Amino acid sequence: MRENMNEKCAVVGIFGHKEASKLAYFSLHALQHRGQEAAGISSADGHKVHTIKDRGLVMKVFNEENLRTLQGSTAVGHTRYSTAGDDSILDAQPVFARYDLGEMAIVHNGNLTNAEKVRNKLIEKGAIFQTFMDTENLIHLIAKSTKGKLLDRIIDAVERIEGAFSLLFLSRTKMFAMRDRHGFRPLSLGRLPNGGYIVASETCAFDLVGANFIRDVEPGELIVFEEGAAPQSIKIFKPTPKHCIFEYVYFARPDSSVFGQSVYETRKNMGKELARIEPVEADLVIPVPDGGVPAAIGYAQESGIPYEMGIMRNHYIGRTFIEPTQEMRDLKVKMKLSPMADIIKNKRIIVIDDSIVRGTTSKRIIRMLKEAGASEVHMRISSPPTTDPCYYGVDTPDKEKLIASNMSTKEICEFIEADSLTYLDEASLLRSVNATDESYCTACFTGKYIV
Ligand code: AMP
Repeated sequence: MRENMNEKCAVVGIFGHKEASKLAYFSLHALQHRGQEAAGISSADGHKVHTIKDRGLVMKVFNEENLRTLQGSTAVGHTRYSTAGDDSILDAQPVFARYDLGEMAIVHNGNLTNAEKVRNKLIEKGAIFQTFMDTENLIHLIAKSTKGKLLDRIIDAVERIEGAFSLLFLSRTKMFAMRDRHGFRPLSLGRLPNGGYIVASETCAFDLVGANFIRDVEPGELIVFEEGAAPQSIKIFKPTPKHCIFEYVYFARPDSSVFGQSVYETRKNMGKELARIEPVEADLVIPVPDGGVPAAIGYAQESGIPYEMGIMRNHYIGRTFIEPTQEMRDLKVKMKLSPMADIIKNKRIIVIDDSIVRGTTSKRIIRMLKEAGASEVHMRISSPPTTDPCYYGVDTPDKEKLIASNMSTKEICEFIEADSLTYLDEASLLRSVNATDESYCTACFTGKYIV
């Protein structure tokens, strides 16, 4: 059975706005970087829940006409991250169901660590599943709960799940926002300019719709949105924060503030810290776009070495139909990233990327830069070696495919054919995100899992 179906996704909820689905749609555009595989919105008009979801980008899934059918003053939306080989619309969200209390839709960012156990128990009791998504467990847990009110059933259900979840529940009249006790994945609350509220994975969605940031949904907190009442906060679990540090490294958009800090600033800090480790003489600092840009700016500022855009990224290459042969994969990278030969030629280059996963990107980029005439290429990575897979919502391959779990830094340097390779160390990374306590999850770099 395929698992980990709710990886790097985005969620958004709009409550108390007459054009809720339109605002959810705009917000999903701002959150598109968190998932390009599928998109969906459910709206509630007090009587019915309407849902539209499909594979593809937000722009492809929605149009003026179908958005008009998503009526009501509440809406929840989702973008789903691509999983290799998957093409099922069934795995798109929101997950919608009719049950004894009416209708509901759920959107989920994160990954439930006890999903299989819960699912097997439900199946033993006769439940029939339509998808591989762990989110479907929640539908069954809510539908089967012996509690009377939906609120109590949601509490009942979330007490049975473990792992990472930033969740939004939509009923015909209410919306509920819930974050797991560790606050692995981000979830923020904002006020809409003309009344109403927005809850979203990242604050870049607030900026787009003119909303004001109020605060983060707290780890372990459930917020109930109901017509005619201020949002009600219920503390379900004692908060024990373990925010995903990889949101700062790679995942979140630089113009967002997650876990209370600017993503851009933390990335620049990582670059500055990196510049202090094993300095090297060079002519230029260049980023691997787009992920490496803020760290490269920080690196250049700290080292005094000039910053240049030495690699161009083509932003219009989405999922291509290219066959998965080595030759074709190389072509795909070339379509995405191309070197600026005039800038690079005969220069000693420091190239900055946010992470190395399998090592394929770095290897190709270094080869590309050398072919374009770079005299030296020094690879600098603004995070520690990625040695362990993530079970809390970031899509990383199995441990054996992570190059840093099998090779030393020296061996990786030889493999990617760099003149030198340096990673950021854990202490410097924690300093970059101003971590003063144990409130971050660094399992992908340390293997120290907490759930
Ligand atoms: P690789 O080629 O496998 O070493 O992947 C490294 C590249 O993937 C870097 O340029 C990263 O910016 C990017 N990256 C890191 N983590 C992820 C992720 N979870 N999903 C997609 N891309 C990623």
